Amino acid sequence: MFRRLACIISVMGETLEALHRLQVVELQIAEIRSQRDVIQRRVEVHRKRLQQANDRVEELQVSARRKQMDIDALSLDVSSREESVAKHREALNNAKTNKEYSAILAAMNAEKADSGKVESQVLERMEEIQSTNNEVAQVEEEKKVHSDALAVAEEKLAAFDERHKKETNRLTKDRKECESGIAPTTLSSFNRVADHLEGEAMAVVGKVHPKRDEYVCTGCNLKISLEIVNILQSRDEIQMCKCCGRILYVESSIVKTP
Ligand SMILES: [Zn+2]
Repeated sequence: MFRRLACIISVMGETLEALHRLQVVELQIAEIRSQRDVIQRRVEVHRKRLQQANDRVEELQVSARRKQMDIDALSLDVSSREESVAKHREALNNAKTNKEYSAILAAMNAEKADSGKVESQVLERMEEIQSTNNEVAQVEEEKKVHSDALAVAEEKLAAFDERHKKETNRLTKDRKECESGIAPTTLSSFNRVADHLEGEAMAVVGKVHPKRDEYVCTGCNLKISLEIVNILQSRDEIQMCKCCGRILYVESSIVKTP
């Protein structure tokens, strides 16, 4: 790598040279970050599923409580109707005329019919509560599966962090050292592209044909003018690819691209 870097440096200005050193470190950081992101995403998926299952259980429990309150209210209604039926039955015994007897009987039968309807509603609510409780039990089982999967994923993430701790600390330190010689505006351009392109903030300029002065950005294949190539070789100036935004640089022997 050092021979290659020396070769690159021979045609780079100081800024590009510093950026290139930063790029080497940044790519290693990005590689670790990308591997970590895969595990982190798994953690988030299981955490989200567990949360959804928790929310569902809560929702079902609220619904079961509401249905129980309905049952309580309906049961009170049934009791008061039963009392009313009992009073009508008593009144029947004291009826003085056939007409009065018939009227009380009709009222009592109507009350009984209504009471029967309310009792049916109570039974319906009870069945609904049973079905809600069955669903709660099912979601509780799913919760257990998600919770176990989350614990495994979190363990893997912690193990990954532990395994890469030393390297990450070293790379973070190296990155800070590499940043120190770079102007803030240039550094912020580098960081912006690096964030956007998984650490790949720079692209080497490639030569399309060995005998022709035709160049491309090897990051995205956009044609690069000879003027830009000359600037990169003669001045310590930042040139960004107009298509992908990568910071361009040239190597002493410009590579031939396929
Ligand atoms: Zn490009």
